[in-house]
Amino acid sequence: MSTSPVEQSVEVSAAVLKFLATPLHKSFVGGGWVEAEDNQTFDVVDPGSAEKIATVTSFKKADVDKAVGVADHAFQKSGWAKMQVAERAACLHRIADAVETRKADFAAVESLDCGKIYNQALGDVQNFIDTFRYFADLSQAVNYRQVIAVKNHEAWVSRKPWGPCGFIIPWNFPFLLAGWGLAPALAAGNTCVLKPAEDTPLSSLYLCRIIQELDLLPEGVLNVVTGLGETAGAAISQNPKFRRMSFTGSPEVGRMVAEAAGRNLIPVKCELGGKGAAVIFNDVDIQQTAEKLVQAITFHSGQVCCDATRWLIQSDIYDDFVGECVTRMKSVQVGYQMDSKAQMGPVVSSKQRTRVLSYLKKGVADGADLLLEGGEAHVPGKKGFYVKPALLAGSLNNVAAREEIFGPVAFLAPFSSEEDGVRLANDTEYGLGNSVWSKDLQRCARVAEAFVAGNGWINAHNVVVHGVPYGGVGKSGMGGGVVSPDTLNDYLRPISVVRPL
Ligand code: NAD
Repeated sequence: MSTSPVEQSVEVSAAVLKFLATPLHKSFVGGGWVEAEDNQTFDVVDPGSAEKIATVTSFKKADVDKAVGVADHAFQKSGWAKMQVAERAACLHRIADAVETRKADFAAVESLDCGKIYNQALGDVQNFIDTFRYFADLSQAVNYRQVIAVKNHEAWVSRKPWGPCGFIIPWNFPFLLAGWGLAPALAAGNTCVLKPAEDTPLSSLYLCRIIQELDLLPEGVLNVVTGLGETAGAAISQNPKFRRMSFTGSPEVGRMVAEAAGRNLIPVKCELGGKGAAVIFNDVDIQQTAEKLVQAITFHSGQVCCDATRWLIQSDIYDDFVGECVTRMKSVQVGYQMDSKAQMGPVVSSKQRTRVLSYLKKGVADGADLLLEGGEAHVPGKKGFYVKPALLAGSLNNVAAREEIFGPVAFLAPFSSEEDGVRLANDTEYGLGNSVWSKDLQRCARVAEAFVAGNGWINAHNVVVHGVPYGGVGKSGMGGGVVSPDTLNDYLRPISVVRPL
């Protein structure tokens, strides 16, 4: 591992600087900017420099409840729910257009806010645009009145929007995940209240600013409320006016949100953590496979829910594969996220850095071998939250092999046969994304289908494509996935209409 010299090669536009200079970033409710009743705020920090970049209003329950009331009112009165589908789709395309023409600005805001390498942030912004366009187009192909042929009855299923929908999202992909949540709900005619993570609220507030400036949505259709998880987040999860709830984040909080929504009998979608495996057979190209896995685990500093964090390697290539991974991991350039030479930026916060480092210690204490030491990294001139990538190996019963670390750390272990590889991959409480690596595509298909997970990838990892359902099972999620036709359907309320003949 090496660190790059301090250099900010990505220029931040005047528009972004003006946005960041806003003295207080208020929440966006009913088309306007609203402060918390108690005037409380919290600070947002650039993870790469550890410097404050914004002050944001801290909503409490009463503020959140008002915002949900506004979304409910907009559902009844704004005309959004009853708008022609094509007209609504055009609104979504206009939002995508507006983001597209400001792509660099959104990427800069996202990069500074969550410490994501600027080019990776650009990819997230493109994904947001694609998601809005995908659901805008898909909404026009839905059969909103599906006739069912049954004996002696006339029958059909009509599909309507549900009402106000709540979204709570994490800090690792703030803008991309806002898109995954909002686009299908809006395309279906619902209204939304989104609470971004307190570490990374800026890109969704920037979106609201553009929506307001260009008058892209009726007032109250999209509301973004900022606040802490235990106050604003809890208030979202407990509000009985919502008709759908969507939570993305840790299993611990997901359980609380699901419990609260369950008490109100509100259907909830949970996209949670992961402990993905890569099952690597002895016929792979060792260099190429090692390269791809190292890229995956260092992408966004390993803060990716579906990452391969357990690398299971067929015994006869184990030593060669480990050697290749160690060499490649050592050469990853850690640096400031806006420095174009940096390959891996900081983790999101000092708390997250402590978490990553403590898992290395706990893993070693629990008997793991340290193949690549990891530890704190120092980027000259920057006081941010940097860590070095690390590799552990040993028994998969190790705490670092079982629990989600959420950093650039992989745990390596050998396996003997196909059966053994599948068994080890499935020996986890999580079930989000696993991959299989081999030249034998029949074996790949067999193994991918044998995974007990939402996603099985072949000769690649972290492959999320619009149109293909993405979700988790077990501790990784429940209630349906995202980015597919099923998702749009989740945001449409079915009513069966029947007339005996
Ligand atoms: P987190 O669970 O701590 O926080 C997620 C969100 O929940 C934040 O907005 C937070 O403010 C809010 N929150 C916190 N306490 C709350 C409470 N008591 N009630 C309601 N809301 C509350 O997760 P995180 O640390 O921000 O994100 C990392 C986690 O997210 C990892 O486990 C990761 O795997 C998971 N994740 C999953 C997916 C997926 O698609 N499956 C995608 C991204 C991240």
